[in-house]
Order: sequence, then C-alpha cells, then structure tokens
Amino acid sequence: MAKPKKPVKTCKECGCTDKDCKACIEKTGEPCFWVEKDLCSACAYKDIWDDIKDLPSKGDKLARLFHQTDAISKSMEQIFIDNNVNHLDLKALPEEDYALWQSLHKQHTRYGHLMYKILES
Ligand SMILES: [Zn+2]
Ligand SMILES: [Zn+2]
Repeated sequence: MAKPKKPVKTCKECGCTDKDCKACIEKTGEPCFWVEKDLCSACAYKDIWDDIKDLPSKGDKLARLFHQTDAISKSMEQIFIDNNVNHLDLKALPEEDYALWQSLHKQHTRYGHLMYKILES
C-alpha cells in the first residue's frame, strides 16, 4: 500500500511553499517564514512590508517598526484608560473593547516578530 503523501506546507493566501517562495522574495526581498501553519510572513505582514519595503536600510526599517509597535502599545494602554480599568485587568473590559485589545495584541505580536526577523537577517 502506498504511503499517503505528506501534504506540502502551502500558504493559503499566496500558495508559496518551502520549495517555491520566489513570489515572496520578489515582494519582500527575502524568503518568507511561517507565521501560522498555513500563512506565510509575506502575506501576514503584507501591510507592514508595504509600509517599510522602500526604506533604505535595516536601521530605518527597524526604526519604523519600533515606532509602529510603540503606537500599538499606546492604543492598547488607552483602552484601559478609557474604560477606567486597572492596567491589564482584561476581564474587566467590555466585550467590544476586549476584542479590540485582542486584535491590537495580535498585531503587536506580528510587528515584534517581524522586527526580530529583520534584526536577525
Ligand atoms: Zn503567502
Ligand atoms: Zn513564501
């Protein structure tokens, strides 16, 4: 009996795989990495890449990312201030604001992740 073939890890957005990532390299200047099991970094960070790709140096890119991450942190902080809720007492937030906080948090993680990858490169 033939062994079932292991499915090739494929990005659900752009269809790139570990073996074929040419399109991502064209878009971002470097090979992608997996952000989720079926989502590559070039797609997950598309908006961020668009924002930083024309900056001349690694330092400029990092500075921009840092600036953005900082702005997201402030927005996250502001949610607690607006609700007059103790810092990081997430359960005390109204549902809608909690959802907003979560999406900001996810964004923040992505920026952080990307910043780390650029630092490493
Ligand atoms: Zn992709
Ligand atoms: Zn790729």
